[in-house]
Amino acid sequence: MNYPIVRFAPSPTGYLHIGGARTALFNWLFAKKHQGKFLLRIEDTDLERSERLYIDQIISALDWLGLNHDGNYILQSNNLSNHHAVLNQLLNQGKAYRCFYTKEELDQLRLESEKAKKPFRVPTTYRDISQEEVNKHLQDQKEFTIRLKVPEGKTCFEDLVYGNITVQNREIDDFILARSDGSPTYNFVVTIDDADMKITHVIRGDDHLANTPKQILIYEALDLPIPTFAHLPMILGSDGKRLSKRHAATNVQEYKEKGYQPKSIINYLSLLGWNPDSDDEIFSINEIIEKFELNQVQKKPAIFDEKKLNWISGQHLQKSSLRELTSAIKDLDFTWAENHSEGFIKDLVLLLQERSKNIQDIIELGKIIVSNPSYSKEDLHKIFIDNNFEIIENFTTGLSFDEFTASNIEELINNISIQNEVSLGVVMKQIRFAITGITYGPSLVEILLLLGQDSVISRLKNFVKQLT
Ligand code: GLU
Repeated sequence: MNYPIVRFAPSPTGYLHIGGARTALFNWLFAKKHQGKFLLRIEDTDLERSERLYIDQIISALDWLGLNHDGNYILQSNNLSNHHAVLNQLLNQGKAYRCFYTKEELDQLRLESEKAKKPFRVPTTYRDISQEEVNKHLQDQKEFTIRLKVPEGKTCFEDLVYGNITVQNREIDDFILARSDGSPTYNFVVTIDDADMKITHVIRGDDHLANTPKQILIYEALDLPIPTFAHLPMILGSDGKRLSKRHAATNVQEYKEKGYQPKSIINYLSLLGWNPDSDDEIFSINEIIEKFELNQVQKKPAIFDEKKLNWISGQHLQKSSLRELTSAIKDLDFTWAENHSEGFIKDLVLLLQERSKNIQDIIELGKIIVSNPSYSKEDLHKIFIDNNFEIIENFTTGLSFDEFTASNIEELINNISIQNEVSLGVVMKQIRFAITGITYGPSLVEILLLLGQDSVISRLKNFVKQLT
């Protein structure tokens, strides 16, 4: 294969969606795998819905994921004069024509077909009228659309995911290339731009599968080389409906804000539709590039599973270096644990790393541990029946040993449990709550060691003072 050229062609009408990111990723992987090029084209021709804000956001989300494009990105609207030139060329060559049916007339005809229970076809009345007739309509200032003269025969292509697809051309209306306001349609501009950018492989969501025969007809009308197509399966939520906000965050930016690492998102997205030939699921980006094959992409829809994303994210977090974690933490929250020494921060991150699924988990739990605890009344009453703080008092007194070590602390907790005839679990829960104000988190003894003897004793004393 010659070096492929692929593209990601988002419309800037919203933030970068998980589905869009998956499409971008598969294009990027294919380009990387085959030393090709990955281009970015912003399809901003729907001027009413396109916004600069979204262009910036899409680019920054791609950048965060590490899906860098080659060269400058292309703005589709900059190619408008080219689109119009090609439209004129097709008209002049007699491969497209002006259709003078108004929308109202076509709606009426469609209604009549429906009533007669006949499939509706756009009549080809204007397809072969003489130039004089065309001129007359133009002089009368009749509105027109430009339609492709779809030839007889059939259109076939081999999709790398869907296999051979054949469509009879008689099933396809002479479809619109330019609307009555002169604006060219998606199927037309996408074809012209892909040809212009010398795209060899069009890899995109399977919602565009039905558009592909039309695009091939345009390539053929223009005698342009036809790229190879690969349509990626849809991404569904757990209930089998199209993935939406109801199921999970769908905007890549939100995952960044929630503290997911880009490598985890990439790993998870790669498995949405692609099935590597192994049971492994945790891959570095280089491993994915090496293993990725378009012919291992499945037709069946992929299900977005947040639990699996969290598991994958947790796995990557465990493998991350301390430096990586601290820099990711600082990126999200510059003031995190700012008044603590480097050594303390290192121990805190190591303590939290193991049980976190993303950077935000480390940040939040870390904040609770470093700051003076606040206590919810409801939890307090559940944990300390009858406001009995004896265990905390015994523990505080017992803590004044010379060596503040794990084994001394553990022994003390054990003794308190025996003397007070209270289970170890309850003793630890009370201490944990008094120290942190919460009932979950990493190993209690490790938290105590991290905070140090003085600070632990003063938190315990404050706890009792505040509540008695
Ligand atoms: N702008 C189109 C979309 O976002 C691109 C489709 C294509 O890749 O051809 O769906």
